[in-house]
Amino acid sequence: MSIAPLTGRRALVTGGSRGIGAEIVRRLAAEGAAVAFTYAASKTDADNLVAEVTATGAKAVAIQADAADPTQSAAAVDQAVAELGGLDIVVNNAAAAHLAPVEEFPADIFNRLVAINIGGTYWTTRSAIKHLAAGSRIINIGSVNADRIPGPGVSVYGMTKGAVSSFSRGLARELGPRGITVNNVQPGPVNTEMNPDEGEFADSLKLVTTLGRYGHTREVAALVSFLAGPESGYITGAHLNVDGGFTV
Ligand code: NDP
Repeated sequence: MSIAPLTGRRALVTGGSRGIGAEIVRRLAAEGAAVAFTYAASKTDADNLVAEVTATGAKAVAIQADAADPTQSAAAVDQAVAELGGLDIVVNNAAAAHLAPVEEFPADIFNRLVAINIGGTYWTTRSAIKHLAAGSRIINIGSVNADRIPGPGVSVYGMTKGAVSSFSRGLARELGPRGITVNNVQPGPVNTEMNPDEGEFADSLKLVTTLGRYGHTREVAALVSFLAGPESGYITGAHLNVDGGFTV
């Protein structure tokens, strides 16, 4: 019988209560990791996910923490380390999206997107680094919108994901000498509450892909799981699209 590749590894996933983050939690746990995840508002979803993962015999811990808040992000890392006994894998997934033309973009929503998408990635990473030994993994969930904007209204969201992209490059340089890899997974349109398959923009987004369809959360989680695992040790500073050909 083969041993699950993430056996003994301890992971923190931000924004794990729903969507892509929840599927990453399921997948990492299925591969043998003990997983803590954060959420902001969806307590019922978080509790249900803990129950689901725990029923498989794996360990899952839900932590309420607003990614935009530096203190809460640091406390979430501390709690994950305390409950899991350490940390080897960090997945910065929590994000928010809002589409509007630049001139009409509400200032409070702009600040919120910057604080969650950029700030959350930064604060969680900053707090986690001291716990990570050689062989650890940081995986940021960016977006193909860092590289390609298929229509108007995506400038601000795309800007935040461009920041995640360049942060990933810089961090890979800083942490490479310590044996820690850093990669940026960039999904294309994936069916979640953020971007529903039947939503307002779905048909036009499907046309931009070469496969003519939305992605499934499991298709992103599969790549994250590989990057978290033992066979990805020479991949760092990479920007890996899971986008059905959106950026071709
Ligand atoms: P969803 O909106 O479906 O889920 C977002 C998750 O993040 C939820 O678990 C939510 O928890 C959590 N979250 C949101 N704000 C915060 C916060 N302030 N603090 C902590 N957790 C928070 O999004 P997706 O699953 O679609 O997106 C996941 C990632 O993938 C994001 O980084 C997104 O930008 C990226 N992405 C998604 C694409 C898509 O088409 N779906 C395309 C490209 C990139 P709660 O409900 O508790 O707030």
